[in-house]
Amino acid sequence: MKKFLFVLFALCFCGTLAFASQPVAEDAHVNRVKIRLFSNVKIEALYVSFDLGLYDLYANDTMLLDSNLGEGISVELKPSTSGVYLSVNGYEYGTYKNVVLKATDTACIMCLNPKNVKQRTYEGDLIVSAFDKANLKIINDVAFETYLAGVVQSEIYGNQSDIFRIQAVISRTWSLRNMSKHKSDGYNFCDYVHCQAYQNRCVRPDIILGTMQSAGETIVGDDGKLIETPFHSNSGGQTANSEDVWRAALPYLRSVSDTFSYHMRQSEWVKVIKKDQWLNYFSKTHKLNIQNDSVRNTLLTFAQPERKAKILGVPLTRVRTDFKLKSTFFTVTTDEKTGDVVLNGRGYGHGVGLSQEGTIRMVSLGISYDSIIRHYYTGAHIHRDESVSETYVQNFVTEITKIIEEDKANPGQKKSKKDDWLGKLFRVRDRQDREEEFDPAKQEMESDWKVEW
Ligand SMILES: [Zn+2]
Repeated sequence: MKKFLFVLFALCFCGTLAFASQPVAEDAHVNRVKIRLFSNVKIEALYVSFDLGLYDLYANDTMLLDSNLGEGISVELKPSTSGVYLSVNGYEYGTYKNVVLKATDTACIMCLNPKNVKQRTYEGDLIVSAFDKANLKIINDVAFETYLAGVVQSEIYGNQSDIFRIQAVISRTWSLRNMSKHKSDGYNFCDYVHCQAYQNRCVRPDIILGTMQSAGETIVGDDGKLIETPFHSNSGGQTANSEDVWRAALPYLRSVSDTFSYHMRQSEWVKVIKKDQWLNYFSKTHKLNIQNDSVRNTLLTFAQPERKAKILGVPLTRVRTDFKLKSTFFTVTTDEKTGDVVLNGRGYGHGVGLSQEGTIRMVSLGISYDSIIRHYYTGAHIHRDESVSETYVQNFVTEITKIIEEDKANPGQKKSKKDDWLGKLFRVRDRQDREEEFDPAKQEMESDWKVEW
């Protein structure tokens, strides 16, 4: 079998997946991850085509086609009670327990077209089995850093590489802490917000640059252990204490003033609710006596100059869920004309940890990467894994920066895949990987690819 080096970006180590509940940063080397794709929908059929590179085809752990899958080939996969039905360009191969499409090098892109679901493209390998006769289990086995770039692209907007660097270090830290989240399901993460959104491969060089700039970095607490790194869209001007949203009071998830979240897309919201609906909700669901003037008055004039956790003993997180509110950070007034209750809200999301829009604002003001992390995660700091070669990271950053500048200088110029930034990026990766290959110190870190379930 052909030998593969997993030196994509900087992380190339033979370390095993760390399944410890609280791994220290030093333990947390991961080459590849398995992500379940289309995890929130039923997949009745999947059509795969190939945008770049060649793929091997395996079925029931045996190679069926060697490097024969590329442009112009279409693979059809359908669930059945006995497994996955496979056909290639209309030729029926049969039904198998599992089907694997394995990229023959790092410059491979496949296009996934599920029935009735929008098409997506991914790098890495694809492992397909059937849950039952109506639903496929589709897993992307991919380099960890490639996955992270895809997550960053799905999770945050912006146009400055530090924004992406921050989202990448948060997502890397979260991933390393939660590597076993779907262990019993046979993969590491789903592609939905339950884990982290991973809605496509990363197609933006500036996001790949930001992700690469954070290579080897994680966020740790005073004890050197990886911290939980929750984030939300916008804090509304003040973040929340972890215990006011979840149960645990974590020392690094403290409520802080966050004026950086003002005047952004998700800074404010308004929701109008019929007065009876609002009052009856507290009466029926939470047994409050709404005939009592004091109770009634509080429910109709509730204000939060600073974030509160409860309204008359009722957790605001519960109110948020039941009324589908963007946040718990709202004040209550009454519309004089209609008599309706008006909730004037601030922010979007649970409010704990990092505010993404606050981050976007801070980066635009030139505030440093480290300071932004420390602002949202009290007392935490960046840990740099010394075994990730800084020279390697620097070379990559220099090369990709050059590619971005070239593209900026020639906007809109149509090029073939081989000649555009993507082709250049793959060549940079390959060159860097070859340099690593000839480094005797790195030889022992190589590994043969194996089908693992
Ligand atoms: Zn999940």
